[in-house]
Amino acid sequence: MLILECPCCGVKADETELQAGGEAHLKRYGPGSTDEEFDGYMFSRKNPKGVHFERWRHAYGCGKWFLAARCTATLEVFGTYPAQTKEPPADLQAKIKQKRPNWEGYK
Ligand SMILES: [Zn+2]
Repeated sequence: MLILECPCCGVKADETELQAGGEAHLKRYGPGSTDEEFDGYMFSRKNPKGVHFERWRHAYGCGKWFLAARCTATLEVFGTYPAQTKEPPADLQAKIKQKRPNWEGYK
């Protein structure tokens, strides 16, 4: 079972309380962008076996969105952080790198 700690209210919620929101840190493209940029934004998503950054909503709790770093193969959760964060916090990236030395890093 996947358990994530909501960084907004501090509750450790299991996946039945949460709503998945897909990949985190997407760069959005709209009017004025090229067809390739918009196509990538609309249809291309990472699907790694390993470290992944995702959006989650505490649907049956505080209702707020947050971001989580976890391993898609083992369900190990590395950490959660507020949705307003532009990229994974440096201390979280260091923690992931310590646990997964072969991880290529964010991006
Ligand atoms: Zn919450």
